[in-house]
Amino acid sequence: MRSVPFFNYQALFKQDEENFIHIFKEVGRRGAYIMQSDLTDFEKHLAEYTGAKYALGVANATDGLQMLLMSVGIGSGDEVLFCSHTMVATASAIHFAGAIPVPVDTGSDHLMDPDSIEKAITSKTKAIVVTQLNGRTANMNAIMAIAKKHHLRVVEDAAQALGSKFAGQCAGTFDVGGCISFYPAKILGCFGDGGAVLCNDEAVYKKLLLLRDHGRNEHGEVAGWGFNSRLDNLQAAFLDYQFKDYAHVISRRRVIANLYQQRLAGIASVVLPPAPDADPQHFDVFQNYEIEAERRDELRNYLKEKGIGTLIQWGGKAVHQFPALQFTQVLPKTDHILARMLMLPLNMSLSDDDIHYVCDVITEFYSKDVLAA
Ligand SMILES: *Cc1c(COP(=O)(O)O)cnc(C)c1O
Repeated sequence: MRSVPFFNYQALFKQDEENFIHIFKEVGRRGAYIMQSDLTDFEKHLAEYTGAKYALGVANATDGLQMLLMSVGIGSGDEVLFCSHTMVATASAIHFAGAIPVPVDTGSDHLMDPDSIEKAITSKTKAIVVTQLNGRTANMNAIMAIAKKHHLRVVEDAAQALGSKFAGQCAGTFDVGGCISFYPAKILGCFGDGGAVLCNDEAVYKKLLLLRDHGRNEHGEVAGWGFNSRLDNLQAAFLDYQFKDYAHVISRRRVIANLYQQRLAGIASVVLPPAPDADPQHFDVFQNYEIEAERRDELRNYLKEKGIGTLIQWGGKAVHQFPALQFTQVLPKTDHILARMLMLPLNMSLSDDDIHYVCDVITEFYSKDVLAA
Protein backbone atom coordinates (compact mmCIF):
# COMPACT_ATOMS: atom_id res chain seq x y z
CA MET A 1 0.00 0.00 0.00
CA ARG A 2 1.15 3.50 -0.82
CA SER A 3 2.08 5.66 2.16
CA VAL A 4 1.41 9.40 1.97
CA PRO A 5 2.49 11.07 5.21
CA PHE A 6 0.99 14.45 5.99
CA PHE A 7 4.46 15.98 6.29
CA ASN A 8 7.86 14.33 6.01
CA TYR A 9 10.20 15.99 8.53
CA GLN A 10 13.20 13.83 7.55
CA ALA A 11 12.84 14.86 3.90
CA LEU A 12 13.30 18.52 4.81
CA PHE A 13 16.93 17.73 5.57
CA LYS A 14 17.55 14.73 3.32
CA GLN A 15 16.33 16.45 0.14
CA ASP A 16 19.56 18.46 0.08
CA GLU A 17 21.68 16.94 2.83
CA GLU A 18 25.12 17.59 1.33
CA ASN A 19 24.55 21.28 0.79
CA PHE A 20 23.12 21.74 4.28
CA ILE A 21 26.16 20.03 5.79
CA HIS A 22 28.38 22.26 3.71
CA ILE A 23 26.58 25.38 5.04
CA PHE A 24 26.87 24.09 8.62
CA LYS A 25 30.62 23.58 8.24
CA GLU A 26 31.18 26.87 6.49
CA VAL A 27 29.24 28.95 9.06
CA GLY A 28 30.76 26.98 11.94
CA ARG A 29 34.32 27.49 10.71
CA ARG A 30 33.67 31.23 10.52
CA GLY A 31 32.31 31.18 14.09
CA ALA A 32 29.39 33.19 12.77
CA TYR A 33 26.66 32.29 15.27
CA ILE A 34 24.78 35.45 16.24
CA MET A 35 23.67 38.35 13.98
CA GLN A 36 26.31 37.95 11.27
CA SER A 37 26.28 38.52 7.51
CA ASP A 38 24.14 35.44 6.80
CA LEU A 39 21.34 37.02 8.81
CA THR A 40 21.65 40.47 7.25
CA ASP A 41 21.82 38.94 3.75
CA PHE A 42 18.67 36.92 4.39
CA GLU A 43 16.88 39.96 5.82
CA LYS A 44 17.78 41.95 2.73
CA HIS A 45 16.48 39.22 0.42
CA LEU A 46 13.25 38.92 2.40
CA ALA A 47 12.59 42.66 2.19
CA GLU A 48 13.36 42.72 -1.55
CA TYR A 49 11.13 39.74 -2.26
CA THR A 50 8.12 40.96 -0.28
CA GLY A 51 8.45 44.65 -1.07
CA ALA A 52 8.57 45.47 2.64
CA LYS A 53 10.77 48.44 3.57
CA TYR A 54 12.48 46.36 6.25
CA ALA A 55 12.73 42.74 7.33
CA LEU A 56 14.30 41.48 10.50
CA GLY A 57 14.95 37.96 11.71
CA VAL A 58 13.54 36.99 15.10
CA ALA A 59 13.45 33.80 17.16
CA ASN A 60 9.95 32.82 15.98
CA ALA A 61 6.84 34.40 14.46
CA THR A 62 5.00 34.57 17.80
CA ASP A 63 7.72 36.73 19.36
CA GLY A 64 7.79 38.77 16.15
CA LEU A 65 4.08 39.51 16.36
CA GLN A 66 4.27 40.45 20.02
CA MET A 67 7.24 42.76 19.48
CA LEU A 68 5.57 44.32 16.44
CA LEU A 69 2.43 45.10 18.45
CA MET A 70 4.54 46.56 21.26
CA SER A 71 6.55 48.66 18.80
CA VAL A 72 3.34 50.08 17.36
CA GLY A 73 2.32 51.14 20.86
CA ILE A 74 -0.41 48.56 21.44
CA GLY A 75 -0.63 47.66 25.10
CA SER A 76 -2.52 47.81 28.36
CA GLY A 77 -6.29 48.28 28.02
CA ASP A 78 -6.29 48.15 24.21
CA GLU A 79 -8.58 45.70 22.44
CA VAL A 80 -7.17 43.92 19.40
CA LEU A 81 -9.40 42.00 16.99
CA PHE A 82 -8.28 38.73 15.42
CA CYS A 83 -9.99 35.84 13.63
CA SER A 84 -10.57 32.88 15.93
CA HIS A 85 -9.58 30.37 13.20
CA THR A 86 -5.88 30.88 13.83
CA MET A 87 -3.11 29.47 15.95
CA VAL A 88 -3.34 30.34 19.63
CA ALA A 89 -0.03 32.17 19.04
CA THR A 90 -1.89 35.07 17.38
CA ALA A 91 -3.90 35.66 20.55
CA SER A 92 -1.03 35.01 22.95
CA ALA A 93 1.11 37.62 21.16
CA ILE A 94 -1.70 40.16 21.74
CA HIS A 95 -2.07 39.00 25.35
CA PHE A 96 1.63 39.27 26.16
CA ALA A 97 1.85 42.68 24.50
CA GLY A 98 -0.50 43.62 27.36
CA ALA A 99 -3.64 44.06 25.25
CA ILE A 100 -6.99 42.23 25.18
CA PRO A 101 -7.43 39.72 22.32
CA VAL A 102 -10.96 39.82 20.88
CA PRO A 103 -11.82 36.91 18.56
CA VAL A 104 -14.11 37.50 15.56
CA ASP A 105 -15.75 35.12 13.10
CA THR A 106 -14.43 33.30 10.01
CA GLY A 107 -15.53 33.82 6.40
CA SER A 108 -16.22 31.14 3.80
CA ASP A 109 -12.59 31.30 2.57
CA HIS A 110 -11.51 30.39 6.16
CA LEU A 111 -10.03 33.87 6.72
CA MET A 112 -11.15 36.77 8.89
CA ASP A 113 -14.72 37.75 8.02
CA PRO A 114 -14.80 41.51 7.29
CA ASP A 115 -18.50 41.71 8.29
CA SER A 116 -17.78 40.47 11.79
CA ILE A 117 -14.95 42.97 12.33
CA GLU A 118 -17.15 46.05 12.50
CA LYS A 119 -19.57 44.44 14.95
CA ALA A 120 -16.70 43.83 17.40
CA ILE A 121 -15.25 47.35 17.36
CA THR A 122 -15.59 49.32 20.62
CA SER A 123 -14.08 52.59 21.85
CA LYS A 124 -11.13 50.54 23.18
CA THR A 125 -10.30 48.81 19.88
CA LYS A 126 -6.84 49.84 18.65
CA ALA A 127 -5.81 47.27 16.06
CA ILE A 128 -6.79 44.36 13.84
CA VAL A 129 -4.46 41.39 13.54
CA VAL A 130 -5.22 39.64 10.26
CA THR A 131 -4.08 36.03 9.97
CA GLN A 132 -3.23 35.31 6.35
CA LEU A 133 -4.22 31.70 6.79
CA ASN A 134 -3.29 28.65 4.72
CA GLY A 135 -1.12 30.75 2.40
CA ARG A 136 -3.97 33.01 1.31
CA THR A 137 -4.13 36.77 1.89
CA ALA A 138 -7.46 38.18 3.04
CA ASN A 139 -9.44 40.76 1.07
CA MET A 140 -7.30 43.62 2.35
CA ASN A 141 -9.32 46.29 0.51
CA ALA A 142 -12.28 45.53 2.76
CA ILE A 143 -10.20 45.25 5.93
CA MET A 144 -8.07 48.36 5.30
CA ALA A 145 -11.25 50.36 4.60
CA ILE A 146 -12.72 49.35 7.96
CA ALA A 147 -9.41 50.13 9.69
CA LYS A 148 -9.25 53.57 8.09
CA LYS A 149 -12.82 54.40 9.01
CA HIS A 150 -12.24 53.52 12.69
CA HIS A 151 -8.59 54.71 12.92
CA LEU A 152 -7.20 51.24 13.67
CA ARG A 153 -3.75 49.82 12.97
CA VAL A 154 -3.52 46.64 10.92
CA VAL A 155 -0.88 44.08 11.83
CA GLU A 156 -0.60 40.80 9.93
CA ASP A 157 0.03 37.31 11.19
CA ALA A 158 1.57 36.19 7.91
CA ALA A 159 3.26 33.17 9.56
CA GLN A 160 1.76 30.94 6.84
CA ALA A 161 1.86 33.37 3.95
CA LEU A 162 5.34 34.31 2.75
CA GLY A 163 4.90 35.41 -0.88
CA SER A 164 1.11 35.26 -0.83
CA LYS A 165 -0.49 38.32 -2.44
CA PHE A 166 -3.71 40.28 -2.61
CA ALA A 167 -4.02 42.74 -5.50
CA GLY A 168 -0.32 42.25 -6.25
CA GLN A 169 0.83 43.14 -2.74
CA CYS A 170 2.56 40.68 -0.41
CA ALA A 171 1.11 39.45 2.88
CA GLY A 172 2.72 41.28 5.78
CA THR A 173 3.11 44.61 3.97
CA PHE A 174 -0.36 46.17 3.92
CA ASP A 175 -0.01 48.52 6.88
CA VAL A 176 2.70 48.62 9.51
CA GLY A 177 3.92 45.05 8.97
CA GLY A 178 3.55 41.39 9.78
CA CYS A 179 5.30 38.29 11.05
CA ILE A 180 6.54 35.26 9.08
CA SER A 181 7.33 31.82 10.53
CA PHE A 182 10.12 29.45 9.53
CA TYR A 183 8.87 26.57 11.68
CA PRO A 184 10.01 23.39 9.86
CA ALA A 185 6.57 22.56 8.39
CA LYS A 186 6.07 26.09 7.05
CA ILE A 187 6.68 26.61 3.32
CA LEU A 188 10.11 28.06 4.02
CA GLY A 189 11.14 25.97 7.02
CA CYS A 190 14.38 25.88 9.02
CA PHE A 191 15.76 23.16 11.29
CA GLY A 192 14.18 24.44 14.47
CA ASP A 193 12.41 27.66 15.34
CA GLY A 194 12.76 30.84 13.35
CA GLY A 195 10.78 33.86 12.27
CA ALA A 196 10.90 37.31 10.73
CA VAL A 197 9.06 40.60 10.93
CA LEU A 198 8.26 42.59 7.80
CA CYS A 199 7.90 46.28 8.53
CA ASN A 200 7.11 49.43 6.57
CA ASP A 201 7.70 52.07 9.25
CA GLU A 202 11.20 53.25 10.14
CA ALA A 203 10.39 54.25 13.73
CA VAL A 204 8.70 50.90 14.38
CA TYR A 205 11.63 49.06 12.78
CA LYS A 206 14.09 50.84 15.07
CA LYS A 207 12.07 49.79 18.12
CA LEU A 208 12.01 46.21 16.84
CA LEU A 209 15.80 46.17 16.48
CA LEU A 210 16.11 47.14 20.15
CA LEU A 211 13.40 44.77 21.36
CA ARG A 212 14.89 41.66 19.75
CA ASP A 213 18.36 42.23 21.25
CA HIS A 214 18.07 43.09 24.96
CA GLY A 215 17.17 46.69 24.24
CA ARG A 216 20.67 47.34 22.90
CA ASN A 217 21.33 49.82 20.13
CA GLU A 218 23.96 49.58 17.39
CA HIS A 219 26.64 50.78 19.85
CA GLY A 220 25.75 48.04 22.32
CA GLU A 221 24.24 50.52 24.77
CA VAL A 222 21.01 49.63 26.52
CA ALA A 223 18.39 52.07 25.27
CA GLY A 224 15.38 50.42 26.96
CA TRP A 225 13.94 47.06 27.98
CA GLY A 226 14.22 44.26 25.43
CA PHE A 227 14.01 40.53 24.85
CA ASN A 228 16.44 38.00 23.51
CA SER A 229 14.63 37.05 20.32
CA ARG A 230 17.16 36.85 17.50
CA LEU A 231 17.08 34.54 14.49
CA ASP A 232 20.17 32.30 14.72
CA ASN A 233 22.71 33.19 12.07
CA LEU A 234 23.08 29.49 11.16
CA GLN A 235 19.33 29.14 10.61
CA ALA A 236 19.43 32.32 8.52
CA ALA A 237 22.16 30.73 6.36
CA PHE A 238 20.01 27.61 5.77
CA LEU A 239 16.99 29.80 5.04
CA ASP A 240 18.78 32.14 2.66
CA TYR A 241 20.06 29.14 0.70
CA GLN A 242 16.57 27.58 0.44
CA PHE A 243 14.96 30.92 -0.36
CA LYS A 244 16.73 30.95 -3.75
CA ASP A 245 14.43 28.12 -4.82
CA TYR A 246 11.27 29.64 -3.32
CA ALA A 247 9.52 30.53 -6.60
CA HIS A 248 9.82 26.93 -7.72
CA VAL A 249 8.46 25.69 -4.38
CA ILE A 250 5.40 27.91 -4.66
CA SER A 251 4.68 26.92 -8.23
CA ARG A 252 4.86 23.21 -7.30
CA ARG A 253 2.46 23.82 -4.39
CA ARG A 254 0.04 25.55 -6.76
CA VAL A 255 0.28 22.62 -9.19
CA ILE A 256 -0.68 20.24 -6.38
CA ALA A 257 -3.60 22.49 -5.39
CA ASN A 258 -4.74 22.46 -9.02
CA LEU A 259 -4.62 18.67 -9.09
CA TYR A 260 -6.79 18.46 -5.97
CA GLN A 261 -9.16 21.00 -7.51
CA GLN A 262 -9.52 19.04 -10.75
CA ARG A 263 -10.01 15.70 -9.05
CA LEU A 264 -12.24 16.70 -6.12
CA ALA A 265 -14.40 19.53 -7.48
CA GLY A 266 -17.15 17.11 -8.50
CA ILE A 267 -17.66 15.62 -5.03
CA ALA A 268 -20.70 17.22 -3.40
CA SER A 269 -19.68 16.23 0.13
CA VAL A 270 -16.51 18.34 0.18
CA VAL A 271 -15.94 22.09 -0.06
CA LEU A 272 -12.56 22.99 -1.53
CA PRO A 273 -10.47 26.12 -0.94
CA PRO A 274 -10.52 28.67 -3.77
CA ALA A 275 -8.64 27.28 -6.79
CA PRO A 276 -5.22 28.81 -7.63
CA ASP A 277 -6.60 30.76 -10.59
CA ALA A 278 -10.11 31.35 -9.30
CA ASP A 279 -9.67 35.07 -8.63
CA PRO A 280 -6.94 37.26 -10.17
CA GLN A 281 -6.93 39.43 -7.02
CA HIS A 282 -5.53 36.53 -4.99
CA PHE A 283 -2.18 34.80 -5.36
CA ASP A 284 -2.23 31.93 -2.84
CA VAL A 285 0.92 30.02 -1.91
CA PHE A 286 -0.95 27.05 -0.39
CA GLN A 287 0.80 26.57 2.92
CA ASN A 288 -2.14 24.21 3.52
CA TYR A 289 -4.90 22.60 1.50
CA GLU A 290 -7.78 22.86 3.93
CA ILE A 291 -11.08 21.37 2.80
CA GLU A 292 -14.45 21.05 4.51
CA ALA A 293 -15.78 17.52 4.51
CA GLU A 294 -19.01 15.83 5.46
CA ARG A 295 -18.43 13.04 8.01
CA ARG A 296 -14.98 14.52 8.44
CA ASP A 297 -13.76 12.20 11.20
CA GLU A 298 -14.89 9.08 9.34
CA LEU A 299 -13.15 10.29 6.20
CA ARG A 300 -10.01 10.99 8.19
CA ASN A 301 -10.00 7.43 9.61
CA TYR A 302 -10.67 5.96 6.19
CA LEU A 303 -7.71 7.87 4.72
CA LYS A 304 -5.55 6.75 7.65
CA GLU A 305 -6.42 3.08 6.98
CA LYS A 306 -5.26 3.65 3.42
CA GLY A 307 -1.91 5.06 4.53
CA ILE A 308 -2.77 8.75 4.07
CA GLY A 309 -1.92 11.30 6.75
CA THR A 310 -4.15 14.32 7.30
CA LEU A 311 -4.24 17.01 9.96
CA ILE A 312 -6.94 19.04 11.66
CA GLN A 313 -5.51 22.46 12.29
CA TRP A 314 -5.02 23.67 15.90
CA GLY A 315 -5.95 20.21 17.19
CA GLY A 316 -9.52 20.94 16.10
CA LYS A 317 -10.18 23.99 18.28
CA ALA A 318 -10.39 27.64 17.29
CA VAL A 319 -8.93 30.06 19.82
CA HIS A 320 -12.32 31.01 21.35
CA GLN A 321 -13.07 27.30 21.91
CA PHE A 322 -10.26 26.67 24.42
CA PRO A 323 -12.03 26.67 27.83
CA ALA A 324 -8.81 27.62 29.65
CA LEU A 325 -8.65 30.94 27.80
CA GLN A 326 -12.17 31.90 28.98
CA PHE A 327 -13.48 33.67 25.90
CA THR A 328 -17.21 34.42 25.89
CA GLN A 329 -17.69 35.32 22.21
CA VAL A 330 -20.17 33.26 20.17
CA LEU A 331 -18.79 32.60 16.66
CA PRO A 332 -21.13 30.27 14.75
CA LYS A 333 -19.36 30.43 11.37
CA THR A 334 -16.06 29.49 12.97
CA ASP A 335 -17.72 26.63 14.90
CA HIS A 336 -19.25 25.36 11.66
CA ILE A 337 -15.93 25.35 9.79
CA LEU A 338 -13.98 23.86 12.69
CA ALA A 339 -16.29 20.83 12.83
CA ARG A 340 -15.76 20.11 9.13
CA MET A 341 -12.24 21.19 8.25
CA LEU A 342 -9.44 18.82 7.28
CA MET A 343 -6.02 19.41 5.74
CA LEU A 344 -4.90 17.08 2.95
CA PRO A 345 -1.19 16.40 2.36
CA LEU A 346 0.51 19.20 0.43
CA ASN A 347 4.29 19.29 0.56
CA MET A 348 7.38 19.05 -1.62
CA SER A 349 7.86 15.31 -1.03
CA LEU A 350 4.65 14.36 -2.87
CA SER A 351 4.49 13.05 -6.42
CA ASP A 352 1.51 13.61 -8.71
CA ASP A 353 0.72 9.91 -8.25
CA ASP A 354 0.52 10.45 -4.49
CA ILE A 355 -2.08 13.20 -5.04
CA HIS A 356 -4.07 11.02 -7.43
CA TYR A 357 -4.03 8.25 -4.83
CA VAL A 358 -5.39 10.61 -2.13
CA CYS A 359 -8.12 11.72 -4.54
CA ASP A 360 -8.97 8.11 -5.49
CA VAL A 361 -9.45 7.21 -1.83
CA ILE A 362 -11.63 10.28 -1.12
CA THR A 363 -13.72 9.53 -4.22
CA GLU A 364 -14.07 5.91 -3.10
CA PHE A 365 -15.15 6.98 0.42
CA TYR A 366 -17.99 9.15 -0.82
CA SER A 367 -19.07 6.81 -3.65
CA LYS A 368 -19.85 4.22 -0.98
CA ASP A 369 -22.35 6.79 0.32
CA VAL A 370 -23.98 7.02 -3.06
CA LEU A 371 -24.26 3.22 -3.35
CA ALA A 372 -25.73 2.93 0.15
CA ALA A 373 -28.34 5.63 -0.51
C1 LIG B 1 3.01 28.73 12.73
C2 LIG B 1 2.10 29.85 13.09
C3 LIG B 1 2.42 30.76 14.10
C4 LIG B 1 3.59 30.58 15.01
O1 LIG B 1 4.81 30.62 14.38
P1 LIG B 1 6.11 30.34 15.26
O2 LIG B 1 7.24 30.68 14.36
O3 LIG B 1 6.09 28.87 15.61
O4 LIG B 1 6.04 31.21 16.46
C5 LIG B 1 1.57 31.82 14.31
N1 LIG B 1 0.47 32.01 13.59
C6 LIG B 1 0.11 31.13 12.62
C7 LIG B 1 -1.13 31.39 11.81
C8 LIG B 1 0.90 30.02 12.36
O5 LIG B 1 0.53 29.14 11.42
